[in-house]
Formats: sequence, C-alpha cells, structure tokens
Amino acid sequence: MKSTFDRRTAVVVAVQPVATDVVRIDFAPDDGETGFESGAHVDVEVTIAGRRETRSYSLIPAPAGLCRIAVKRVPASRGGSAAMVRLAAGDRLVFSGPTNDFPAVFDGREKLLVAGGIGITPMISHARACARRGEPFRLVYAGRTRAGMAFLDEVAAEFGDRLELRISDEATRLDPAAQISRLAADGALWFCGPHRLLDGLRHAWKAAGRSWLDFRFESFGARGDACGSSFVVSVPRHGVEVTVPPERSMLEAMEAAGLDLMSFCLRGECGLCALPVTAVEGGRIVHMDVFFSDEEKANGASICPCVSRLDGGRITVDTNYRPDAI
Ligand SMILES: Cc1cc2nc3c(=O)[nH]c(=O)nc-3n(C[C@H](O)[C@H](O)[C@H](O)COP(=O)(O)OP(=O)(O)OC[C@H]3O[C@@H](n4cnc5c(N)ncnc54)[C@H](O)[C@@H]3O)c2cc1C
Repeated sequence: MKSTFDRRTAVVVAVQPVATDVVRIDFAPDDGETGFESGAHVDVEVTIAGRRETRSYSLIPAPAGLCRIAVKRVPASRGGSAAMVRLAAGDRLVFSGPTNDFPAVFDGREKLLVAGGIGITPMISHARACARRGEPFRLVYAGRTRAGMAFLDEVAAEFGDRLELRISDEATRLDPAAQISRLAADGALWFCGPHRLLDGLRHAWKAAGRSWLDFRFESFGARGDACGSSFVVSVPRHGVEVTVPPERSMLEAMEAAGLDLMSFCLRGECGLCALPVTAVEGGRIVHMDVFFSDEEKANGASICPCVSRLDGGRITVDTNYRPDAI
C-alpha cells in the first residue's frame, strides 16, 4: 500500500452519474496500487481561485486495477466538487493516499452503521468488511429523496435485510433514538453524513447513556452557514488584525496574515485549532464545528477557526502561544 504522503497520478477511466448531483469516478493509478482499508479516503488536487488545494474522497470497492470514488456537487462549492464532477474519461488526476482517519474496529460486537446522503461512500467499504469478517451489523442509509441517494441498488443487492432505508420525502425519516434503542447494549455506532444528522445521533446517544468510546464518525465538512459574510479578526497578543473574506476560512486568513497556528482535521472535528474568544462586536459566532458541545457553543468562549466564523463584525481572539511555557 502507498504511503499517505506520496503524490500520485492516475487517469480517469469512467465518470458515471449515480444519483442527482452525484457522479461515480473510476480512475487507474499509474503505479497500479489500488488497495485500501475500509473507511480510507484519497486527497485529490484541485485548483481553486488559482491556488492548489486538496479535496478528500472516500474509497469505494472497485473492479480490479481501479480506484472508485463518488462525488456530490456541493451547491455553495468554492470549486472542488464542481471541478470533480466535470472530469471525463482520459483526464489526469493528482492525488495522495489512501489515508484512513475513520478505521474500522472489528471486535465481534454489534455495529450500527449509519450513512446520511453522500456519507454512504465509506460505509459501503465498512459494511462489506463487517460482512466478510462475520461481524454483526445493520446499515441504515438515510437521505432526503430516493433520487438523490447514490448506490441504492448496489447496497440493497449486497446487504439485503441488513440494509434499512430511511427517506425523508417518503415519510420514513430516520429516528436516531429508535435506531439506537435497537442496538445491543455494548454495540457501537459508526456514522458518516451531514452535521445535522450527526447532531441528532449524538443527542440520542447521550440520552441513552451510552459510552462515547463506542460512537465513531467522520463528517465530510461543515455546512457553510454565514459563508457569504466577511468579518474582522483581531489578535492583540500578536498585533494582528485581518479581514476574513467570504471565500476563506478564519484559519486560512489568520495564517495568511503570518500567524503560525496549530490545526489538523480542518473540518471542525478534532478541536486542535480552537482559540479562546475575548470579544465579539457587531456580529455573532456561527459555530460549524462538531467538536464543542451545545453548552460550549452557547457560551461562546472558544471558536474552531477552521470552519466557524462570524456573520459580520469583529472578533478578538487569543492564540495558544505561551512564551513562558517554552
Ligand atoms: C475524509 C473525507 C472524505 C470525504 N469523502 C467524500 C466523498 O466520498 N464524496 C463527496 O462528495 N465528498 C466527500 N468529502 C467532502 C469533499 O472533500 C469536499 O469537501 C466536497 O467535495 C466539497 O468541496 P468543494 O470545494 O466543492 O466545496 P467547498 O467550497 O470546500 O465547500 C464545502 C462546504 O464549505 C462551505 N464553505 C464555503 N466557503 C467557506 C468558508 N470560507 N469557510 C468555511 N466553509 C466554507 C460551503 O458552504 C460548503 O458547505 C469528504 C471529506 C472528507 C474530509
């Protein structure tokens, strides 16, 4: 298997629509390596506003010699998914990975696998891996409309009565508490999907008194609320004041202003970039992370600048730089 950090190249072999606004992309890496662990993703290079960036896509089991991903076109796209869905057979790709931030744990206990929308992509490989190892599991696949849900026929054929579909516009919306109540007392929940569904599952998990050690998830990034506004960040400790434009995250703008900040996941999950907030004027913090609790978000003492921002105005933050700690 390739190292996470190798820069690799591939040729796109096929691009196929598989649901409304979702395409399946098969590509053949030039080095011929296609192996991956369930839950892994690749990071594909895209050019956004003239800058080289990467976008992550979970790997789906594919025919021999190919890697397979599926990309949903995001309406408020800065350019990544919009470029990916325009790919055609014969195009070249630059990517790295596979990387696995959402590895499976096979321990014989029951698994409730919940996929929301395009979050089905890593769950297909997890469900297949569970089935192959004889792990007890159920796959619950939730979406707003049947037409928007990719790979419905494939997952129905592969997982049979271990698959449950929950479709909002067919009045079978997913009920987090009901699903969790059917899971064995020592069972685990693995989730991938939108933040709103993640919030619902977390509330139900907490209400059921279950252990957070058994709740595993990967989100595909923030919703992007308030991304139309610019605002000012002031960091008195470093004498820095910078305007965050709509197309940049607060973290990106602070780094571009010369601040050296710690960060890791860049999707509001790990909390490494969290900064203490000392004042907010003329605007409101829009928390888009899944790291802080509801109480912490309401209290507003900290912000995850990789995804969260202000809907206008000005925020004063400190950094975690402590010269006396060195
Ligand atoms: C591990 C992992 C696996 C993934 N797997 C898949 C997959 O299998 N399939 C798939 O379709 N996607 C997947 N994604 C998501 C994917 O990487 C991209 O985030 C997605 O394609 C959107 O990219 P974009 O450039 O079009 O959108 P972006 O422009 O990056 O926008 C993404 C979201 O951020 C918001 N946003 C816009 N501007 C800002 C701003 N200034 N600050 C903060 N937020 C902003 C947007 O409103 C939007 O909701 C995965 C992500 C991760 C991390």
